[in-house]
Amino acid sequence: MRERIAQACAATHRPADSVRLLAASKTFSADRVREAAAAGQHDFGESYAQEGVEKINATRDLPLTWHFIGPIQSNKTRPIAERFDWVHSVDREKIARRLSEQRPAGQEPLQTCIEVNISGEASKSGVAPADLLALAKSIASLPGLRLRGLMAIPEPTDDMALQRRRFAHLRELLHQLKEALAQEGLVLDTLSMGMSADLEAAIAEGATIVRVGTAIFGERTKA
Ligand SMILES: *Cc1c(COP(=O)(O)O)cnc(C)c1O
Repeated sequence: MRERIAQACAATHRPADSVRLLAASKTFSADRVREAAAAGQHDFGESYAQEGVEKINATRDLPLTWHFIGPIQSNKTRPIAERFDWVHSVDREKIARRLSEQRPAGQEPLQTCIEVNISGEASKSGVAPADLLALAKSIASLPGLRLRGLMAIPEPTDDMALQRRRFAHLRELLHQLKEALAQEGLVLDTLSMGMSADLEAAIAEGATIVRVGTAIFGERTKA
């Protein structure tokens, strides 16, 4: 997997260490997480809060970084706020406010990406690009969250040119956001985009975090 990322970086003249690999471990056991950690993997992503917390508890002895990458229901924010280091999938203000309020005072702010809907009507999750700036401003004002960038999950397609157009769109949205919020002193350095099937296109368009499940752990047997 690291070889594939290194090649994708080389192909677009990026340093190999400019892309962070997040292992999307949903549905895989804590033992599989331990194996990956023993092989040098440090960042893990979970899509279900309860399942994620169980794995965090089961690997407490390891210095891992945990990212929440799934859809967020407003009654499930507390475990995310209390136990995760990053959240990639904030797409509305109500969720952001709850996460901030529930982030324990002694902890670093929760590193936060806004999920953007760059596939139009085909996708249910993510804020519409037109509403992004307002959401970013409100997140930037919340003490329990630290806004770091954007995330997207485009609809699957084998057409690499289309994959690249969508990822380029997210890159452009981050660029616009940086300009609009230049006075706020934020570090907007994160583009969380690219999965097993499209990480080359994402890296070519500037991904700084790729979220990879199947290509690391194999096929998932449940959703
Ligand atoms: C499962 C998941 C991934 C990884 O998908 P693969 O196709 O298995 O690489 C990436 N991002 C999110 C949000 C996911 O839920």
